[in-house]
Amino acid sequence: MHELSLRELGEGLRAKKFSSRELTGHYLGRISQHDKALNSYITVTADRALAQADAADKTLAAGAGGALTGIPLAQKDIFCTSGVRTSCGSKMLDKFIAPYDATIVQKLDAAGMVMLGKANMDEFAMGSSNETSYYGPVKNPWDLERVPGGSSGGSVAAVAAGLAPIATATDTGGSIRQPAALTNLTGIKPTYGRVSRYGMIAFASSLDQAGVVAHSAEDAAVVLQAMSGFDPRDSTSVERPVDDYISGLGASLKGLRIGLPKEYFAEGLDPGARACIEAAIKVFEGLGASVREVSLPSSPLSVPTYYVVAPAEASSNLARFDGVRYGHRAEGVHTLEELYKRSRGEGFGAEVQRRIMIGTYVLSHGYYDAYYLKAQKVRRLIYDDFRRAFGEVDLILGPTAQSVAFKLGDKTDDPVAMYLNDIYTIAANLAGIPAMSLPCGFHQDLPIGMQLMGNFFDEGRMLNAAHQYQQATDFHKRRPQAFA
Ligand code: GLN
Repeated sequence: MHELSLRELGEGLRAKKFSSRELTGHYLGRISQHDKALNSYITVTADRALAQADAADKTLAAGAGGALTGIPLAQKDIFCTSGVRTSCGSKMLDKFIAPYDATIVQKLDAAGMVMLGKANMDEFAMGSSNETSYYGPVKNPWDLERVPGGSSGGSVAAVAAGLAPIATATDTGGSIRQPAALTNLTGIKPTYGRVSRYGMIAFASSLDQAGVVAHSAEDAAVVLQAMSGFDPRDSTSVERPVDDYISGLGASLKGLRIGLPKEYFAEGLDPGARACIEAAIKVFEGLGASVREVSLPSSPLSVPTYYVVAPAEASSNLARFDGVRYGHRAEGVHTLEELYKRSRGEGFGAEVQRRIMIGTYVLSHGYYDAYYLKAQKVRRLIYDDFRRAFGEVDLILGPTAQSVAFKLGDKTDDPVAMYLNDIYTIAANLAGIPAMSLPCGFHQDLPIGMQLMGNFFDEGRMLNAAHQYQQATDFHKRRPQAFA
């Protein structure tokens, strides 16, 4: 059953080949069998899942429900889930039981989906390897000695290994796309403001977007459709109707103009990854698309810009975790200052503390103009690059990551090497445009992903391009053998 697409799962449920309870039980069984090796779930919500499955079965028996009724999923542990621990990968929130549901949790519940549990992640979504989680690293199902990418490492490992048919994820600088690339999945980060951030624990609010990781663009489209839309409880949510992503999946790519940013094909890109992406470009040409070079001249500045803007916002967002209002509280303290210091010192891991310090520094009087304000200006230049490029082309294509998944521990001692993982993904967050990663081949038996970026609210066109490519290729169908 775990080999089936969401459409096939839905058809199977409706044809009564299996019930949602059986399907849910199958995934719960696979989690108990395989997740010791992967560590992809922080919390498994078996009872809640079976109750949701029974409710879905009732709906289906009455001939009601939609495309997602009865289909299980994993929720990244950054989304508040009422009555269920919502840890954000941190000791700070290890005992936090959310009192309400995030909007996307509510929407997917309402669509009849069954939550299997909460997926592991880097602490407060800070990381590119899922090694900063308080709950331990996640392993890559393609090679257990390698990282799955981050910060949505649990979401991708669960889906890649067949421990969930699909999962939610979030992307502040690449956390949907980079892990999707490293595990042979399709992951989409929509336009900033397309999906509600209400109930999604904030890292860098002007960059954070929720999305999905899936086995195909078609699967991703169905769940993204259900997650998207205006939410009055998120002040940055955009009031604009959601396109029909699913019926858009049949369109021909004839006449589609694809831009290849020359900066993305410069040094740093592994030759193995480059070869896969060049082959993919040929496939797109074969499907009728035209390809030309474009330039995003400010893109080399995106990593340094991000590492000012994101920590600045994080330092402000994470101020609420003080042991009084939220989060872990240190024991045996005598003064208020000691309470703050020890609670935050004990509750936050090293990477989160590093980001808070950087953020506080760049926002402080005397450094604000030199760092934060400067970064905001460069951010605008990055946005202008995309505006210009989308005057010439419909989609931009490039690599998602520089190479295949690296070994656990390889970059943990070198934060800057870790930060460079997102060199191709960060610009989309700084500009606010939608972007996705999809499988485009293998190098040394490990998956390679390519990235598509679209103009604002052009998710539909991007998903269709990915879907057409997936109709012509079968890289996305390959699964890691150890989890067959
Ligand atoms: N890897 C980047 C970081 O560490 C991006 C993380 C994310 O997108 N949440 O901040």
